[in-house]
Amino acid sequence: MNKNEKASGSLMKILGISLVLIFVTGIGVMASNAKLTNVKIILSNNYEMTVLTTKTKVSEILEENHIQLTSEEIVSPNIDLEITQNKTIRISNKADYSGEIAEKEKVITKEEILSSYGTITEKLVTEQVVIPFETITKEATTQGGTTQNKIVQNGKNGLKEVTYKVKYQNEVEIERTEISSKILQEPVNKIVEVRTIQITSRSSTERVATVNPATTASTTLAKKVQGITPTVKSFNTSAYCSCAKCCGKTNGITASGAKATQWYTVAAGSGYKIGTVIYIPALKDKPNGGWFVVQDRGGAISNSKLDIYMSSHNAALQYGRKTLEAYVYEF
Ligand SMILES: [Zn+2]
Repeated sequence: MNKNEKASGSLMKILGISLVLIFVTGIGVMASNAKLTNVKIILSNNYEMTVLTTKTKVSEILEENHIQLTSEEIVSPNIDLEITQNKTIRISNKADYSGEIAEKEKVITKEEILSSYGTITEKLVTEQVVIPFETITKEATTQGGTTQNKIVQNGKNGLKEVTYKVKYQNEVEIERTEISSKILQEPVNKIVEVRTIQITSRSSTERVATVNPATTASTTLAKKVQGITPTVKSFNTSAYCSCAKCCGKTNGITASGAKATQWYTVAAGSGYKIGTVIYIPALKDKPNGGWFVVQDRGGAISNSKLDIYMSSHNAALQYGRKTLEAYVYEF
């Protein structure tokens, strides 16, 4: 016998045992089914239920289903009898059974309606209510450093006494109306100073120009800034070129991304935005008429310095250092 034949032999045995078991169980079910009966029970409120029972006596069936007759109820067939062929047990009210099934036309009075809703009572209730404080922000500028907001005054909740007229129905609050309120303690506003770094933290020597050179100059840059009132300030000016000595690199590309141009490009401190136009009257005879644009930055260039771009290192050296007044046009 090979392995496969052995296996199929075992399977046949299992199937055989299973069939015998099913057969035995089937007989059991059939046997108990023979004794069970469906009985319909109709309660006095006309609720119908069907129960499965092995009992035949009315009292036993009712008991089995935990049904107890009240003194007002009667049952048919009688409690001591066996159930009849229609297998129905009917429970009725004695009054209805005697044929007096008179529908009572009920006259509902106003009092009855009101009583079903429960009495409404009103009470005056006084409660203390918190008045939350408000937060007020004030703008403050800071000379660099921290931008953290500063709490100038801590807020404190206030308190008021409020009197309400409260309506209750069956002990439950159904309405609340404020009648009066009295402040016991005023809230204290929270005041926060919102700090922003002053975009141009510059020296106090800066002043607003009384004359605007842009209105009389003819260069493209001057025309572009004619509507802007410049500020005037003295700068320590120097010059640089695109060599490695001056810039640490040689591609001539400025911080703005544009290529540096002689008599146009100037490097300034971060207090001056890229694009800021600078007019240096002392350089008004140069090809640009003294008009520059902030296009570059530099590690050593503070807000009090301007570094003017030159096309050669020699020219930059020749320029040297000069303290010059400049007009600053910001957008
Ligand atoms: Zn150089």
